[in-house]
Amino acid sequence: MIIAPKIRGFICTTAHPDGCAQHVAEQIAVVKSRGPIENGPKRVLVIGSSTGYGLSSRIAAAFGANASTIGVFFERPGSADSTATAGFYNTRAFEIQAKAAGLYARSFNGDAFSDAVKSEVIEAIKADLGQVDLVIYSLASPRRTDPKTGEVYKSVLKPIGQSYTNKNLNTSTGVVNEVTIEPADQDEIQQTIHVMGGEDWELWTDALLEAGVLAHGVQSVAYSYIGPSMTWPIYKNGTIGCAKEDLERAQRSLDAKLAPLAGKAWVSVNKALVTQASSAIPVVPLYISLLYKVMKDEGTHEDTIEQMDRLFRDRLYNGNPQPDEAGRIRVDDWEMTPEVQQIIAERWAAVNTENFKDIGDFEGYQSSFLRLFGFGLAGVDYSADTDASVGIPSLTA
Ligand code: NAD
Repeated sequence: MIIAPKIRGFICTTAHPDGCAQHVAEQIAVVKSRGPIENGPKRVLVIGSSTGYGLSSRIAAAFGANASTIGVFFERPGSADSTATAGFYNTRAFEIQAKAAGLYARSFNGDAFSDAVKSEVIEAIKADLGQVDLVIYSLASPRRTDPKTGEVYKSVLKPIGQSYTNKNLNTSTGVVNEVTIEPADQDEIQQTIHVMGGEDWELWTDALLEAGVLAHGVQSVAYSYIGPSMTWPIYKNGTIGCAKEDLERAQRSLDAKLAPLAGKAWVSVNKALVTQASSAIPVVPLYISLLYKVMKDEGTHEDTIEQMDRLFRDRLYNGNPQPDEAGRIRVDDWEMTPEVQQIIAERWAAVNTENFKDIGDFEGYQSSFLRLFGFGLAGVDYSADTDASVGIPSLTA
């Protein structure tokens, strides 16, 4: 079939297998161009490994440190007349490249919140790797089924206490308008914590510990975001921020549990970037568009792969993780410099539909978004008849 983007609001319902493969190849090239990650991880489990930060973590571990990787994700396969989700094609491409490089890679497509997937993955670690020395927890999901009670929790992106009005970007048209979001009630806050908080990270770690598959010196890392004060009502002080606070609670508890193994649990605060998860958050895409412009002009812009490469190379595996006062790793440091934030604050006050194309990076936002689905990549023939039903080697073997 001929595959073109079909955008519905903040998602693209199609994905291009060759474009996704090219996107993965470009990320691999970034990591390789920086040389080997000395003393990097050797056996890595990535939970949420198919897109965004998790995919880049898997690529950085495999192609920077020659790590064997097991990836877990929830993606839809394609068929003769409909495309798979991007994460499915990304994983196919990753596995093909890993195999060509002589690297072990095995993938699990299922609900990471379930007990069944946890057991399957643990059996695979036992059988193939023995133990893992790095666990990356990078899930972003709108819902979670409680494995014990069967209750389905839904996460919401809302402020707490009072309604929040701020500037907002229509990411299809480039129109800058205003959005008002009503506050969450207590139940919505609790449900969001159940989905995006630390509970499932703890369940994974407990299960991995109990099975004895965490190596001496293991590190386990989950990702968070803080950002500048203009986004706090919807992010840091909103429902998602409550969930991220819970993630930090879990980090402290897991840190104690991993101590007997000389292990360490971390929360890494990463940069705001266009991913499938972040494009769903109100206000944030406008902030990201302004941020990209400033950081590209400054020469400090990074995408997920540069962020994850830096996390491994300059924090987790160089003996100098540089935690902040709350014990978090900060690879959002370049985003959060006073110089960058000062320019953004001025532009935030001034931005409107007319000046947005000059002071924001709308083109960069849109092209990054399309690239997530394998569109707009150099060297891909988008007019070619393409097989959308291709599989993931380790899932079809
Ligand atoms: P993403 O949407 O690109 O990736 C989410 C991953 O989770 C995918 O691999 C998906 O398949 C997987 N997933 C979702 N539900 C699943 C389920 N039930 N079972 C198995 N896998 C499932 O998201 P992202 O932006 O890379 O976010 C990953 C983490 O990074 C999140 O914790 C997010 O808060 C954090 N983070 C994101 C940003 C940003 O700007 N994007 C910044 C800082 C931190």
